[in-house]
Amino acid sequence: MLRPEKPAVDPGILQAAELIHSSSYVVAMTGAGMSVESGIPTFRGKDGLWTKYGQPPMDGFSRFRADPAGWWQKQLNRDMDAHMIELRDALVAAEPHTGHHALTALERAGALNHVITQNIDGLDLKAGLKNLIEIHGNRSRLRCIGCGERTALNDFVQVEPPEPCVHCGGAIKFDTVMFGEPVPTDTMEAAREQIDLASCIVAIGTSASVRPASGLLWIAKSQGSTVIEINPFETKLSSICDVVIRSTAGDALNQLAKLFESPEHNLRDRARSVDPETDLNTDSKIGYGATLNHSNLREYEHDRF
Ligand code: NAD
Ligand code: ZN
Repeated sequence: MLRPEKPAVDPGILQAAELIHSSSYVVAMTGAGMSVESGIPTFRGKDGLWTKYGQPPMDGFSRFRADPAGWWQKQLNRDMDAHMIELRDALVAAEPHTGHHALTALERAGALNHVITQNIDGLDLKAGLKNLIEIHGNRSRLRCIGCGERTALNDFVQVEPPEPCVHCGGAIKFDTVMFGEPVPTDTMEAAREQIDLASCIVAIGTSASVRPASGLLWIAKSQGSTVIEINPFETKLSSICDVVIRSTAGDALNQLAKLFESPEHNLRDRARSVDPETDLNTDSKIGYGATLNHSNLREYEHDRF
């Protein structure tokens, strides 16, 4: 009788797992491609919103600042760019997919120290990820452009224009960073700190073309970090990557998380018992010893010969 064949594992996945395993501090940078399998379209690429509707004007923030009340009225009347209406409706409907949960599993296994996401959809938080920087903000929050205070919106659909900030009188906008708007300084500094700590970067579902976020990837490389790319298509980052995985975020992250699964240990507890300073619930800067499941790895390697 024929034995059923085990699924083949991409050699790139194995290389990536080894690189992550041997790295002291691993940071993932995710982009719009990370949430495609949750039904949220990207901007660029084959099914991207800009490909469908054309690229919108790049002066969103200056238009908001010139007339915050008028900007909110347009929002509330759905008198917005078509691509923003489609994105907003997709955000309301989206749930994390298995790739978001696999990213959380990698964090829990100690394989991933921090995630910087360019996404505004909040799906990483919904999937239980702890160490996260949302570099372009989160669509379920509001932010004052004067003092920077953020408040929860608790709903993606604002029903009335928000009052000016109670602290400084500044105009209130969505927390999401608009075209032409600087990334808030606290967020940019936190992201840079993670890049400076990183010895390995995993770039997932990003075209690496939105600055300043994408620039962090080149800074990491120039500081000696290795770079792994997970993306079905070539990007401008591909040529500087140490490992390239041409696959969707969901497929690749599920395979990676499987390699870091420990059959007999809870790795979080084990890390704590080795050193109390490595409590995974803190923002500890100490690498906390990911364990690659070598028994899984050997199985896969064996299959390849
Ligand atoms: P992008 O739209 O420029 O590029 C998306 C990338 O994802 C492409 O390189 C594409 O090849 C890749 N991709 C497509 N399907 C994929 C899949 N299933 N798995 C993995 N990768 C896949 O995205 P970007 O570089 O992140 O920049 C766009 C900007 O748009 C960001 O600043 C972000 O804030 C915003 N945005 C966010 C969302 C969201 O929150 N989900 C959605 C659209 C746009
Ligand atoms: Zn304020």
